[in-house]
Amino acid sequence: MNVFNNEVWFVGAEMAPLVKAGGLGDVMGSLPRVMLEAGMRVRVVIPYYKNIIPQNFIKIKKSYPAGKTFFGEIPFEFGIKTGVTRSGIPLVLIEQDHFFNRQEVYGPHGGVRGYRDNLWRFAMLAHGVAYAMKVLGSPLIVHTHDWSGGFVPAVIKQIFGDKKVQFSGGNILDLRAHNRVNAEGSRPAVVFTIHNLGYQGVYGIDDFFDIGLDFIYNSSSAYEHFGTLNSLKGGMLLSDTVTTVSPAYASEIMTPRFGFGLDGELKNMYNRGRLKGILNGIDLDYWNPKTDKFIYYNLNLRESGYKLVNYKEWKDFKLKNRRGLSADVNLPVKIGENGKPLPLLGVVSRLAEEKGIDLLLDSLFNWHDFPFQVIILGSGKTDIESKAMSLSGAYRDKVYVQVGKYDETMAHKIYAASDIFVMPSRTEPCGLSQMIAMRYGAVVLAGDTGGLHDTVSDVMDTSAKEPSGILIKYLDTNAVSWALNELYNIYMDTHSENWNKLVINAANKHFGWDTSVKAYENIYCNIIK
Ligand code: ADP
Repeated sequence: MNVFNNEVWFVGAEMAPLVKAGGLGDVMGSLPRVMLEAGMRVRVVIPYYKNIIPQNFIKIKKSYPAGKTFFGEIPFEFGIKTGVTRSGIPLVLIEQDHFFNRQEVYGPHGGVRGYRDNLWRFAMLAHGVAYAMKVLGSPLIVHTHDWSGGFVPAVIKQIFGDKKVQFSGGNILDLRAHNRVNAEGSRPAVVFTIHNLGYQGVYGIDDFFDIGLDFIYNSSSAYEHFGTLNSLKGGMLLSDTVTTVSPAYASEIMTPRFGFGLDGELKNMYNRGRLKGILNGIDLDYWNPKTDKFIYYNLNLRESGYKLVNYKEWKDFKLKNRRGLSADVNLPVKIGENGKPLPLLGVVSRLAEEKGIDLLLDSLFNWHDFPFQVIILGSGKTDIESKAMSLSGAYRDKVYVQVGKYDETMAHKIYAASDIFVMPSRTEPCGLSQMIAMRYGAVVLAGDTGGLHDTVSDVMDTSAKEPSGILIKYLDTNAVSWALNELYNIYMDTHSENWNKLVINAANKHFGWDTSVKAYENIYCNIIK
């Protein structure tokens, strides 16, 4: 008899603040917490990265007897530990030191070069999840994320069978109830979230036979994709429902331009009501300009809705944080026309092609004596890192660049100090940085794509409500220069309040999780009906 606990298990490779390589970590850290606060019963399952997770961030409660799986002929043992994070989120840790006790989550340089055995590492995560379900009892819902969580649906099906757990009415559909349910021969329902379709976990098809999966999943209706093994494809096709992280991105990925070869499958899922875009939120307690411990000066406003009359406080907030950061990085604030400081452009980003930071760099290189100061924090592709470094070499009084490492403190300081946050992404599933930047009163320059389209309202669009930035439809270097120039003119215009309005509008946008939590709960309840 299978026993199901009325729980949702989040499965993923990262979880902030324990371990974070990008936006997935933020979501895995904040969404479960908000769900718990809403009364739902949630656990997060992640690999036990002993080297990375600070020991004082978690409390281990119990260790369970080891499980074993075979990769080809080779047996691998792994452990299960339960615990809790400092903020009270229940954890299940999959312990396998050979695979998970590393310096990085995906590989050196923020994962640009993945570890060679990533396929095995994240297949191990899936086997660990299924074993944990045997040991601890199954949740009703497994919510797995991205290609690194892509083997979870297959392992669940091969161990528990293909029949999805089902309930007809009753309070079990309320995910707040503490019920346990017996459902012979059933498996949990599986939700799969795509945070970035650009990373699919693609390997040689021969590797399929080394990760402990049944042969039936080596087919085009699962992991096989044009002669390759594709973790994300199988993960989504074998799940009951697929979500992605913004409504605009959900539409985009059904087109050849953004579909990365999976647009046909995605369109199919959408037509069968199995694909939905739900906008991510940010952790409003963590990213809070009034209480943030990393920044030089906290916003000193009592009310939660910000008004134009408070602009003076925002101006103070920006300037004091800028002065602090400028002193730290030795980039004295430069004064432009009207005696105003030159606007500070901020970047906090992975330096990958998709983020379009190269377009910003080219724009500034081409622009004789550009009227901005710039602070860039990022890591990723070496050619983009070097280009950023040469810009700072050429303009030492205007540009500061820190590349090659992840620096949480510095990121907060940049959000707080920037006047314009620059994110000219070529594609952006949701994007959290622009939401954080707006919460800290920065106006956003962004590519008109995915979650940026859904969160930034464009000052050039006369029908846009409460503009908070500028959106570029047809991205190239010239378009970035044009947009920078437009924002510069608004910023420098002393006779109008337009800049002040942009800042207040940005800061007033609400990017919490409340609406999205309801949307996820609806999905969970619907798939077990
Ligand atoms: P993505 O997930 O594609 O990298 P998002 O905008 O969704 O982009 O999320 C990026 C997150 O990672 C944000 O919280 C941002 O502040 C953070 N981040 C990116 N690069 C760095 C870095 N070098 N140091 C610190 N934080 C970073």
